[in-house]
Amino acid sequence: MRLIRSASEFCEELSHERACGRRVGLVPTMGALHEGHASLVRRAAAENDVVALTLFVNPLQFNDSSDLEAYPRDLDGDVDKAQAAGARIVFAPPVKEMYPSFPDVPKTTVHVSGLTERLEGASRRGHFDGVATVVAKLFALAGSCRAYFGEKDFQQLAVVRALVKDLSFPVEVVACQTVREEDGLAMSSRNALLSETDRRAATALYRALNTGLRALERGEEDLKAVRAAMRADLETEQLVYVDYAEVVDPVTFEPPARLDGELRLLVAARVGQVRLIDNVGIVLSGDTERFVENEEKQTAGVGTGKER
Ligand code: AMP
Repeated sequence: MRLIRSASEFCEELSHERACGRRVGLVPTMGALHEGHASLVRRAAAENDVVALTLFVNPLQFNDSSDLEAYPRDLDGDVDKAQAAGARIVFAPPVKEMYPSFPDVPKTTVHVSGLTERLEGASRRGHFDGVATVVAKLFALAGSCRAYFGEKDFQQLAVVRALVKDLSFPVEVVACQTVREEDGLAMSSRNALLSETDRRAATALYRALNTGLRALERGEEDLKAVRAAMRADLETEQLVYVDYAEVVDPVTFEPPARLDGELRLLVAARVGQVRLIDNVGIVLSGDTERFVENEEKQTAGVGTGKER
């Protein structure tokens, strides 16, 4: 295991690996690693010869300084977890290494238009510019590789795919399923910030998504009704403050013209002081044969509403 702090060393190390004929898997993270991150590393290790995990709490993607300060950090624990999951390189740069002009915003930033205007982009102004900028920098340093991202951050995944296509990065983006706790809560570094009562209330997010899935499965054709059902589920928890509960086209992130074909259900809510997001996918075909995408097989112990 090699812990690298310098951007140029990281770049050289991965160039060396490739020169030796090894295929590189890249797993960008903000640290405070959990099983969701570990699943990305394990998949990257299975599909490549060497895995580099990056740990960087990217200040550019936080639109709220108290959120940035509160974000959990655990470098030593993360290095151990990354190694245990199969990473050979951990790149954990100081902020000045990534952004020499910090706290001034760099002169060049990356903006992905369209799909960043909605949902997370609308709620967290500038968030996706920060994400796109740091991911572009990491890709520029890493060079040709496969990069592993979680569906947990579904809109982010779409932003990264657009960025790779539009800026011609030699990167293959690999999407990985969301890993959940036993009660369905999507694993997240932010879960560590939840109080015991918040943690119980947080299960409402996945419940609401399943309520939406069941409504679609039953043949509900009114988008507003599906949204309202999800929102009502979230609002049963007093500690949950709903930001959005939406059904969108998974490519454009716009509301679908018809509740048919491939759809994505997404929710965002503040639970106590902690903002959480989650999403699930569904594929509906025709009026008689409605079925749900067979994803998230890793979900344990929860009626997903996806059984036929
Ligand atoms: P983060 O450290 O939260 O920025 O996440 C780093 C990467 O891990 C992103 O690609 C996330 O989508 C992914 N990730 C986070 N939580 C999960 C999860 N529960 N299951 C799968 N991937 C995840």
